[in-house]
Amino acid sequence: MARHRAKDALVDVIARVDLDRKKAVAAVVAAGALAGAGFAGAMTTVAPVDRIVPVAATKDLAAAMTAQAQPQGIQTVHSLDTSAETRKLLQAEQIQAQFHVSEALKSAEGAYVKRQEAAKAEQARIAAEEEAKRPKCVRPAQGTFTSGFGARWGTSHNGVDIANAIGTPIVAAMDGTVIEAGPASGFGLWVRVQHEDGTITVYGHMNTIDVPQGAKVKAGQQIATIGNRGQSTGPHLHFEVWVGGSQKINPVGWLAERGVTL
Ligand SMILES: [Zn+2]
Repeated sequence: MARHRAKDALVDVIARVDLDRKKAVAAVVAAGALAGAGFAGAMTTVAPVDRIVPVAATKDLAAAMTAQAQPQGIQTVHSLDTSAETRKLLQAEQIQAQFHVSEALKSAEGAYVKRQEAAKAEQARIAAEEEAKRPKCVRPAQGTFTSGFGARWGTSHNGVDIANAIGTPIVAAMDGTVIEAGPASGFGLWVRVQHEDGTITVYGHMNTIDVPQGAKVKAGQQIATIGNRGQSTGPHLHFEVWVGGSQKINPVGWLAERGVTL
């Protein structure tokens, strides 16, 4: 059926060819649209060679149409190029803007870092100043000096006693390390702190111990509280100084040498 219609269409086209070639071209285009492959077959079988002009014309038209299409394609490409150029320009501007932003951020960051460094330096300076002002040696407890170093009641008293209420803070006399903290014969509880020069200070009879063995302590830092444990005749701190870690000396002189009076 399709083939039949195509033949009719071709006959119609051929009839017009000699009259007006241009019109024929248009007619063939229209017929071609109707016939498709069937139309081409009809032409080769039915139409004589000299009547195939419209087909050639169709081809020309197709070529012309392709040629027409091409500039559009080129324009499209050109249009793409233009947008690409615009995009490049925009990118360049963005890059420049980003550069300025990043420079500004760097600058701000730099200023921030400088301020931070200045603040740190100031903190360090204040800390160093406070460290310099901090006493190197302090009285181990507030209270009443009740007993000195030496012979007492037929025996040797190896330290000094400072009496005060139970719970009164006992502090490290100097910076050092807690080398022992716990029960001890006669002391009830004791804490021994070793200092940088090897001297050990001993604190006894305390009610509570507030630092663990191994702790680093500062002069004046609370390490315990006054108690009445061990061989004690009332709440007081028993305080000893062991020079070189073993030689028990009079704490009064040792403290006085360091600007502390009992
Ligand atoms: Zn004592």
